[in-house]
Amino acid sequence: MTPEPHRPVPPGMRAQLDSQSYLGPATFGMRPLLTEPEQLDSWQPDVAVVGAPWDDNTTFRPGARFGPRALRASTYDPGTYHLDLGIEIFDHLEVVDYGDAVISHGMWELSREAIRTRVKEVVDRGIIPFVIGGDHSITWPAATAVAERHGFGAVTMIHFDAHADTADILEGNLASHGTPMRRLIESGAIPGDKFIQVGLRGYWPGEEDQQWMREHGLKHFMMQEFWERGTHAVLADLIAAGRERGDKVYISIDVDVLDPAFAPATGTPEPGGFATIDLLRIVRALVLEFDVVGFDVMEVSPPYDHADLTVNAAHRLIWEAFAALAVKHRATE
Ligand code: MN
Ligand code: MN
Repeated sequence: MTPEPHRPVPPGMRAQLDSQSYLGPATFGMRPLLTEPEQLDSWQPDVAVVGAPWDDNTTFRPGARFGPRALRASTYDPGTYHLDLGIEIFDHLEVVDYGDAVISHGMWELSREAIRTRVKEVVDRGIIPFVIGGDHSITWPAATAVAERHGFGAVTMIHFDAHADTADILEGNLASHGTPMRRLIESGAIPGDKFIQVGLRGYWPGEEDQQWMREHGLKHFMMQEFWERGTHAVLADLIAAGRERGDKVYISIDVDVLDPAFAPATGTPEPGGFATIDLLRIVRALVLEFDVVGFDVMEVSPPYDHADLTVNAAHRLIWEAFAALAVKHRATE
């Protein structure tokens, strides 16, 4: 028998969380902040946001370590009613902010373990982790924790990115933000044939890594295909490809999958990407369609932002996923 959820918020804190987003403590979406696993047990949220303020594995522009804080503090508060889906999100989805993984600069082994452990504390309780980064190397420990819960090989990865992030090693770094997908495939946490990569474009990786990707059965929907066939047609194929691979899905979004015009604040911008409006609707459709067991948004580097473009886009991608989850929860209430 699961006891009723216990969700204590003192009135002074409630007043601040229910106010404008520039008041009070900076939590993601002005959601209550929990820090202890025992609090997750009694609170019983559906979703826990986990920050991973780490960017030591970037190859070019740093700054993503400030992504989690910016996503909590700098976003314009848009309200909580989704106009298209017709739902008051948090009436049907209980979301908490579970703080940050306590990383230590320059110490990847320690930080990787801190990220994996914190995400594991969430998934082991049947709560969906939403991880905010941080550079994309974070997806290695984060998705590993999710696979440890649901089974190695049991989760499909839908990976949005301008880049495949499947390099073996970059300048001697096995944990570069250009290698996390290779690590997940090699460990068996998420095999290559459970990978769907969306939005790839540009000039990397080269033939050798592409050959490796073909041998390991990765599926791709390149940006070129969206340009040729249009978003609706490719989205239908994307959903079909996901269906072939099973219901449990981890969605990883490198914000550089958006065109730099929409998301300039990122480490390795690549022109020719998605418009925000298209990516929002793709995310909505996928979350409505699949059993989402993990979600992350990576590579938001606030020092390079203009007018909070990137921070707001990243925030809305998560908001969109929340709204779609809320619709599914409402259907079972
Ligand atoms: Mn990228
Ligand atoms: Mn990436």
